[in-house]
Amino acid sequence: MQIGIVGLGLIGGSLALDFSSQGRSVWGLSRSRATCEMALSMGAVDTAVTALEEIPQLVQTEIVFVCTPIAQVLPTVQLLASHLPAHTIITDVASVKGAIVQSAQAIYARFVGSHPMAGKAEQGIKAAQLGLFANCPCVVCPSEDVEALALVRSLWTGLGMQVYDCDPHTHDQAVAWISHLPVMLGASLIHACQQECDPKVQYFAQKLASSGFRDTTRVGGGNPELGRLMAQFNCEAVLTALSQYQAQLDHLAQLINQENWSAVQNYMENAQTWRSLFLEKSTH
Ligand code: NAP
Repeated sequence: MQIGIVGLGLIGGSLALDFSSQGRSVWGLSRSRATCEMALSMGAVDTAVTALEEIPQLVQTEIVFVCTPIAQVLPTVQLLASHLPAHTIITDVASVKGAIVQSAQAIYARFVGSHPMAGKAEQGIKAAQLGLFANCPCVVCPSEDVEALALVRSLWTGLGMQVYDCDPHTHDQAVAWISHLPVMLGASLIHACQQECDPKVQYFAQKLASSGFRDTTRVGGGNPELGRLMAQFNCEAVLTALSQYQAQLDHLAQLINQENWSAVQNYMENAQTWRSLFLEKSTH
C-alpha cells in the first residue's frame, strides 16, 4: 500500500516510522530539505520531497495523512485535492475536529477526520518515535464514505490503537477536558510558580521540583504553538472547562480555608477513585 504523509514532525514522523516498519511504502512532504533528509536517513520514508509535484508515487497513493499544525490542515487538504487522483483518501491527525471535518469534506469528499491520542512534549522529526501510537485511543469521525472510513479505522487499529467513532462536536468537548484543559493548567501552574517573589523560595522550588512537577506540567510545558492552536480552535469548550475548573479550585480553597479536613480528605478520595475511570481502559 502506498501511503503519503504531509508534515514530517512528531506525529507525521512517528506515523512514517510505524508504517515503514510494517513494510508499507511511504512518501513524505515537508517544507524543509533538512527534514526530508532526516526522514530518509531514519528509514521513515522511501521518498521525501518539498513539493507535491515531485512525488512520483502520487497516482498510486491510497491514503494521505495530513500531519501539519491545526491551522494548516484545511489549506493542505485544498492543495492535495487539486493534485490527488479521485480514489485517494485523505485523513488528518489534528487535535480539534469541529473546525476541520465538515469543511474538509466539503473540499474533498473522501476526507475522514482522525485524532490519535498519543504524543509527547517534544516536537519535530527528531522527536519521532516508533510505536508512539500503540495502546492509545484514537478518534475517527463519521463519514458517508464507508470504504474510506473502514480503511482509516483499520490503519489506526493496525498501529495498536483503540479506535472510537465520535462526532466532531462531542470529540472537541471531550478533549477540552482531558487534553486541552491539562495543557492550560500545566502552563498556568508554571506561571504561578514563577510568581514567587522570595528569591530563596524560588531557588529551592526550582531545585526541588521532581517527578510530581514533571508529570503535572509535561503537557503545559510542551509545544507552545500546539497549546495556542488548541485554545484558538476549540475556544468555547476550553473556556467552559477552564471556568468549571476554576470553580473546583475555589471550592477546594474554601474547604482548606474552613479547615474542613474531613471534606478535603473526601475530595481527595473521590479524585483517587475517579482517576481510574479516565485511565483504565476497557475494550468496549
Ligand atoms: P510538529 O512536531 O511541530 O510537526 C508539525 C509538522 O507540520 C512539521 O513537520 C512541519 O514540517 C509542518 N508544518 C509546520 N508549520 C507548517 C506550515 N505553516 N505549513 C505546512 N506545514 C507546516 O507538531 P506535531 O506535534 O507533530 O503536531 C502535528 C499535528 O498533530 C497537529 O495538528 C496536532 O494537533 C496533532 N497532534 C499532536 C499531538 C501531540 O501531542 N503533539 C497529539 C495528537 C495530535 P516542516 O517544517 O518539515 O514542513
